[in-house]
Amino acid sequence: MSRSLFTSREGGVSSAPYESFNLATHVGDELTKVIENREILAERFGINLENIFFMNQVHGRDVAVIDENSRFSELQTVDALFTTRKGVALVVLIADCIPLLLHSERAVAAVHVGRQGLVKGVFEATLKLFQTHGITSGEMRAELGPSICGQCYEVGSAMYEDVTKQIPASASENSCLNIEAALVSLLEEEGIAWSSMGECTAHNDAYFSYRRDGVTGRQAGVITL
Ligand SMILES: [Zn+2]
Repeated sequence: MSRSLFTSREGGVSSAPYESFNLATHVGDELTKVIENREILAERFGINLENIFFMNQVHGRDVAVIDENSRFSELQTVDALFTTRKGVALVVLIADCIPLLLHSERAVAAVHVGRQGLVKGVFEATLKLFQTHGITSGEMRAELGPSICGQCYEVGSAMYEDVTKQIPASASENSCLNIEAALVSLLEEEGIAWSSMGECTAHNDAYFSYRRDGVTGRQAGVITL
């Protein structure tokens, strides 16, 4: 049975502006503290740190498959991780984008879904991997962690037009995009059952928010088969 976890700012050792449970190495925090936080995560999740796979996220649509040959030290530049291997955990790091965790009996995935990834099709690319493994939408379940809400994500008019034209459900009020509503529309089109924490990273100080704070940490979505 797959299991998962979403982290918040609470429970780590980093100092301001990364206080305290920052799990990202690319945001300017002290590396030793990030590693200590990752060790705390590993202990909380009950998996050795060398079996937890992170990714170098670039707002694209590429997916990496973690299999028996995958090595912890080889950080992949992708926006989704997929595995059928038991005993490993997949991590997506976010501070406003959606951490999307996809569950099934035979495979799991961690997906970084921001505006760009959504438009480029990172969700569809990940879904395709489940399908090539013979896993149907009905066998899958999606979990959405904390992300910026449809009142907080204001964009310029050209971008608003562009994104809402491609995914109408992304339309919100006052030139804001609702990325979660857009992703939910794609999940429902595919018939994938979903649940969301319904927490906005920008509204809620318990989470890191890039929009709100600029220089800040990253929280995680973690999943294992
Ligand atoms: Zn909000």
